[in-house]
Formats: sequence, C-alpha cells, structure tokens
Amino acid sequence: MEKLCPICNSICTKHVRCTMCGEFMEDMGRNSQYYDSYSAEAEINNSGKCIHLYHCNKCNEENLVNITEIFI
Ligand SMILES: [Zn+2]
Ligand SMILES: [Zn+2]
Repeated sequence: MEKLCPICNSICTKHVRCTMCGEFMEDMGRNSQYYDSYSAEAEINNSGKCIHLYHCNKCNEENLVNITEIFI
C-alpha cells in the first residue's frame, strides 16, 4: 500500500469556501514553497499531509489547506 494525497492524484476534490466572501476556492495544487528542498519534502511525507494552496478568484484570498493522505 502506498500513501497518497487524493487531491494530487485526482481521486477526489475538496471544495473549500473562501473565508472572506464564501465563494468556492480554486485548488492551485501543492504549495510549492514547502517542496523546494529534498528535506522539506521528506518532512511533509512523514507527516501524512499534503499542503494545498487554495485561491479565491473573486477576492484573491489565499488559504493553505492540509490534505490528509490516504492509503491506496
Ligand atoms: Zn496533494
Ligand atoms: Zn473570496
């Protein structure tokens, strides 16, 4: 079994509402600032979380959401 982020692997989508205006936010993918070095990536993998950046097209609010990885 492998532990994978369901959002990155298109298994499911998570709908996040903007805290500012209540619109659904768009998933911008993994927040790359957490993955730009090998050690950071290893740390994230161990935590079992995938951090996604969500963006609101209406008011430009951005939100970091922890996605719990699941066993495939
Ligand atoms: Zn992910
Ligand atoms: Zn908004």
